[in-house]
Formats: sequence, structure tokens, C-alpha cells
Amino acid sequence: MFRYIGVAALVVMALLLEACAPKSQSDCGFVQNVYGERVSWKADVPVTMYLHDSVPNEFIPAIVSAAQTWERKSGRRLFNIVTTPRVSGPNQPRTDGKNVIYFMNTWETEKASEQARTTILWTGDQIRETDIRVNAKVDPETSKPFFSFYWNQGTGSGVNIEALILHEMGHVLGLKHNDAGGSVMATYLKNNDDRTELSEQDTTDLKCEY
Ligand SMILES: [Zn+2]
Repeated sequence: MFRYIGVAALVVMALLLEACAPKSQSDCGFVQNVYGERVSWKADVPVTMYLHDSVPNEFIPAIVSAAQTWERKSGRRLFNIVTTPRVSGPNQPRTDGKNVIYFMNTWETEKASEQARTTILWTGDQIRETDIRVNAKVDPETSKPFFSFYWNQGTGSGVNIEALILHEMGHVLGLKHNDAGGSVMATYLKNNDDRTELSEQDTTDLKCEY
């Protein structure tokens, strides 16, 4: 008898929780929270992004250009790229209330094939902080970087840094991976792939939140 009462009480509690939970939304390509709501910056744009000392000057135009590509499609100012002053201190992402791009000289050995990673901190359905880390680790055996980066269409050999940053900025905005239809949010970026324009789907997804 006692056991039944316990179960009934749990069911009532679960129903109450469900009644209070926000309505779930279609994902539109965005990360969703436990309630199925899209996670994004909402009206809190432009997102101010800082550059750590480790970001090579030569790649600043690529970073600015990637930000502008997202903005062109949304028709809104989405990013405020702060090129000066730089963020100094340890080359290690930290929870400091700032969105920062790092070119890391350390990377987990078991994830050596990962070109970059973006971490997102959110509460509810609101993004609070993001950090982009680019894998600029040097291979101790060859003394060469695992990835060489270039920018400007068709000029280099290696990873197009604008395409890479464009993808990571999609994560900053809240977008998740999309391996269909030439999306810039595809999981993998091949060498010498100058993928610097959003797909139709990317633009449609973007407009769900921005
Ligand atoms: Zn990704």
C-alpha cells in the first residue's frame, strides 16, 4: 500500500513539472536544451568576440570575413570582432564572461585529428559565453604543425581558416552539425575546401533565431 502511494505521488509531480516546462520547438539546426528549446543568443547580439594573443595577425581578415558572411545572410549585426586589445594570459579557454578565439599549442593526443572546437555555455535557452579553440599544435616528431592554415580562396594548401572559423562561428551562434546539402556546419572540412558560403539550409536555419 505504501509503495502505491509513493508511485502516485511521483506521477503527480512529474505531470506538474511537465506543465511548467516550456514548449519544445523544432530544432532549425540549433542545439536544444532539455526542454527542446533552441539555444541561441536571442536578442543579445552582436556577440562580442575577442582574440587571444595566440591568433596570428595574418588570419584576422579571415575571421572578420567569416563573421560578415553570417551577417549578410541574417541582415543583422551578429558579431563584434575586437581585434585590439588582445586577450593575454594563458593560452587556455576559461569561463571569464568573454567570447575568445584561441590558437592552441596544446591538444589532446587522442583528438589529434580535430581541427577546432567551440564550447558553449548556456542557461535556459540563452547562450552566455562561447570560446573557439583552433588546433595549432606542433607535431613534436616533425616540428611541423599538424594542420597548416591558409586564407584567400584557392591560394593555399591545408585548411582554409575562413571556412573553419565560419563553421565554428555557426556553433557560437548555437548551430549544430549538419552533414546534408553542402552546409558549412558539416562535421568535416577537407583540406583545400574553400567552403566560405552558407548553404540555403544554413540561411533558413539561421533565420529561425536571428
Ligand atoms: Zn563543428
